[in-house]
Amino acid sequence: MWTNWSGGQRCRPVATARPLDEAGVAGVIRRAAQRGQTVRPVGAGHGFSDLAVTDGVHLDCSAFSGITGVSATAGGSAATVRVRGGTTVGELQEALAERGLALPVPLDVGAPTLGGALAVGAHGSASTVGSIAEQVIALRLVDGRGEVRDVPRADLDAARTALGALGVVLDAELLVVPAAPITVTRAQRPVDEVLDPAFWEAHDLAEAALFPSSGTALARWAGAAEGEEPERGVGVTSAGATGRTALGGAVVVERALPRLAPSLNRVVSRLARTVSATGAGHRVLSDPPAVRYEQAEWAVPRELLVPSLRDLLPRLADGLETGLPVRMRVGPAERGWLHPAYGRDTGWVAVRIPRGTDPGPVLARTAAVLRAHGGRPHWGTRHDFDAVDVAAAYPRSADFGRVRDDYDPDRVFTNPALSRLLGD
Ligand SMILES: Cc1cc2nc3c(=O)[nH]c(=O)nc-3n(C[C@H](O)[C@H](O)[C@H](O)COP(=O)(O)OP(=O)(O)OC[C@H]3O[C@@H](n4cnc5c(N)ncnc54)[C@H](O)[C@@H]3O)c2cc1C
Repeated sequence: MWTNWSGGQRCRPVATARPLDEAGVAGVIRRAAQRGQTVRPVGAGHGFSDLAVTDGVHLDCSAFSGITGVSATAGGSAATVRVRGGTTVGELQEALAERGLALPVPLDVGAPTLGGALAVGAHGSASTVGSIAEQVIALRLVDGRGEVRDVPRADLDAARTALGALGVVLDAELLVVPAAPITVTRAQRPVDEVLDPAFWEAHDLAEAALFPSSGTALARWAGAAEGEEPERGVGVTSAGATGRTALGGAVVVERALPRLAPSLNRVVSRLARTVSATGAGHRVLSDPPAVRYEQAEWAVPRELLVPSLRDLLPRLADGLETGLPVRMRVGPAERGWLHPAYGRDTGWVAVRIPRGTDPGPVLARTAAVLRAHGGRPHWGTRHDFDAVDVAAAYPRSADFGRVRDDYDPDRVFTNPALSRLLGD
């Protein structure tokens, strides 16, 4: 039995293959196709959605890890690295740091693999610099016929965020930047301050955590706190050590007594003290979860980020408040045809439901509100989109379908999620 990180997705693949080389990957796909079986690549199982769920063959890419090449771009202001698809984001960020390099936008979670992060368009929170998928300048995969393909430029915007529908990503060439320490500050802020677009314009890298019924948000941004001497090399988690312990405890109490959630959350949101730290972005932003949870994240047009939250927060405060805050982030328009931020500057709204609490009502209300604000779901989180929604929300979805017909004509990579989202 395979289970994802949150425990919300389970399946019994007919087999799990862990090939050690490209020929091995191609062989797994060809054999499965000959047997009429389907194949789903699987990374670290950190997706909340059912994209990796299959009763066919699970192709575990974890043996495919590491950086296989580094080259300076013209002028030396950036570089590119060739990274294998099974490399975790954490391994990648550490390996880059050892070479004096960094991802343009650090990710605060290390477990997802590059293949998994690309498949769903995993993102951080910077208003002008895009996700890992946006940094892809070349990509190699094994397609549905078991052929190794260097994805041509014409197909790259389809392949950079492909839900695992075009093939198994072997490696990708990414744009990276010279490493430079950043100072991250976390502090309490009035909710009205983080719901003011000026807050996001003032910080290129920022995010906020908001409890639906608390007037206090926990904000994190790149830049030193006034007059504070930043601590060196420690993580500045969104809730802080005390806040995290309180969060964990509050979640247990709220599961038993949900009506206490609003008052407990108000207390928790006021516990986090102001702190700053300086160091490598992925280290100072590292934010390991205090508890396991289910998540729905939606991408709305940037200009609708604040109106969507002004709509959502009271709707969640009305009997659906959980012990975990709503997370607010931003990102620029992306080129990936199926990336949730395709073609528009974006605001991200993530709602989390602690394990043990029925996620259904919160997921349904969140989807209803954010759909009304033009929302597109993060493919790695829980949502209710189907093929009709995809066709309506993604102007290049038909073009993606044509590329899919070329890379996987016999739908070797299909599963119930892809059938629902992309049709067969
Ligand atoms: C605690 C936690 C924190 C998170 N934080 C963030 C965050 O800050 N930002 C964000 O955007 N997301 C975040 N996520 C979501 C996560 O990044 C995505 O769900 C990501 O897809 C997980 O990668 P994975 O390797 O675990 O992939 P899986 O969950 O194993 O697979 C996800 C998809 O990728 C496909 N896939 C996997 N490997 C390959 C490959 N080699 N080739 C082709 N397709 C492949 C699978 O078929 C599936 O469709 C978080 C998740 C968790 C659990």
